[in-house]
Amino acid sequence: MSLKIFNTLSRSIEEFIPLDPTGRSVRMYCCGPTVHNFAHIGNFRTFVFTDLMRRYLEFKGFEVIHAMNITDVEDKIIAAVRTTGRDLKSYTGEYEAAFLTDFDSLLCARPHLLPHATDHISGIVKLIGTLMEKGIAYRSPDGSVYFSIEKYRASGAKYGQLLNLNFEEMRAGERVSTDEYAKESIADFALWKARMPGDGAVFWPSPWGEGRPGWHIECSAMSMELLGPSFDLHLGGEDLVFPHHEDEIAQSEGAGLQTHGHRFVKYWMHGAHLLVEGKKMAKSLGNFFTLRDLISKGSSGREIRFLLLSAHYRESFNFTIEGLNGARTALARIDELIGKLGEIAGPQTGAVETETIDRFTHSMDQDLNVSAAWGGIFEWVREKNRMVAAGTMTPALAASALATWKRMDSVFALASVSGAAEEIPAEITALLEARQAAKKEKNFKRADEIRADLKAKGWLVEDTPNGPRLKRI
Ligand SMILES: [Zn+2]
Repeated sequence: MSLKIFNTLSRSIEEFIPLDPTGRSVRMYCCGPTVHNFAHIGNFRTFVFTDLMRRYLEFKGFEVIHAMNITDVEDKIIAAVRTTGRDLKSYTGEYEAAFLTDFDSLLCARPHLLPHATDHISGIVKLIGTLMEKGIAYRSPDGSVYFSIEKYRASGAKYGQLLNLNFEEMRAGERVSTDEYAKESIADFALWKARMPGDGAVFWPSPWGEGRPGWHIECSAMSMELLGPSFDLHLGGEDLVFPHHEDEIAQSEGAGLQTHGHRFVKYWMHGAHLLVEGKKMAKSLGNFFTLRDLISKGSSGREIRFLLLSAHYRESFNFTIEGLNGARTALARIDELIGKLGEIAGPQTGAVETETIDRFTHSMDQDLNVSAAWGGIFEWVREKNRMVAAGTMTPALAASALATWKRMDSVFALASVSGAAEEIPAEITALLEARQAAKKEKNFKRADEIRADLKAKGWLVEDTPNGPRLKRI
């Protein structure tokens, strides 16, 4: 069964065939966070989507090299450093650490490579130098270096590969120095920004004078340096299609480092945006959530991950508190079944149910059709529950069902077997142990008191033949 994905480059569903002639290794790059603030839930939708893609490729047997950059120098960061009076490294370091903590709590696998823009200045300068030599970059009177769209197009290259741009309305010769700009201005963009008084201590030397790199060139330089001039997969949020990704293509292909017939990137995938309670997130509407806001309101990273994984990545998704409650219930259903299966299976191990895995693979192969995959999983949960209730779930069948769930969960990474156990706070485990000790001493009054105490704290104790089991109420 082959994987098919929607390639933004061709605006169509294509079969995924890696560049590696042996067909085994896949190199993927995801645009990472700009570390100037806590990332919000919309940002994390993209990172959970990229994690899903990586895990599914691994599930399919590919060896994935996953790179994600940390943008630690860029317009918004410079502005924040200026207003806070802090040093660049300490400022960005703090938000990077916060980002990675959030990333981990969403159970995303850490990328193999996490390059920082400020560690790659020499590679960035070198790439700009190549574009200068090719005549498609020029130095402006203020000492900044710009990419010339006109020269690039004159060389026969296409600007506007990921989306159709209207050159009739293009304001020729116009330049933008900011990292983010509107679609209306197909203007020359900055590769190197000359040092300005407001930049403070944030500057590096270059053949064109002191300054700092533009945001777009950072990703071109780092991705090609780490993954080669041509690689398989580039992912990001749909808001990055233009100008960021279009500019990445222009810079990377403009430098001409690819061997004949190869593109900079073979497949581009973009995740759709997220609405919160039906509206675009805005601080003024009170629906702007960072991950830590949601966790402080009582949600777990696992529940948020599950909710984000419930919708197809190309559909805009309405994130709601009601949805989070639904996620909790759905996960509890899975956890309950997995718990029961574990008790029935005991130490026995089993082989996966081939048919169930085939059905799952068939769904996911269709451009990561998670709705179909989840539909199949919940049907499977119902069937297993029926068997448990009817007493037909033998230890061998239970072991096989557990192996099947584990295999599917290698993609979703909800870790309901060990993860659920890990989420039990130490205080609760200690109480459970105290209750066991009381029971052993036949102090049933004390044991009941502890059980009531646990209940008040939101945990139910179920005594099973294999010992007590905790369940969230
Ligand atoms: Zn990028």
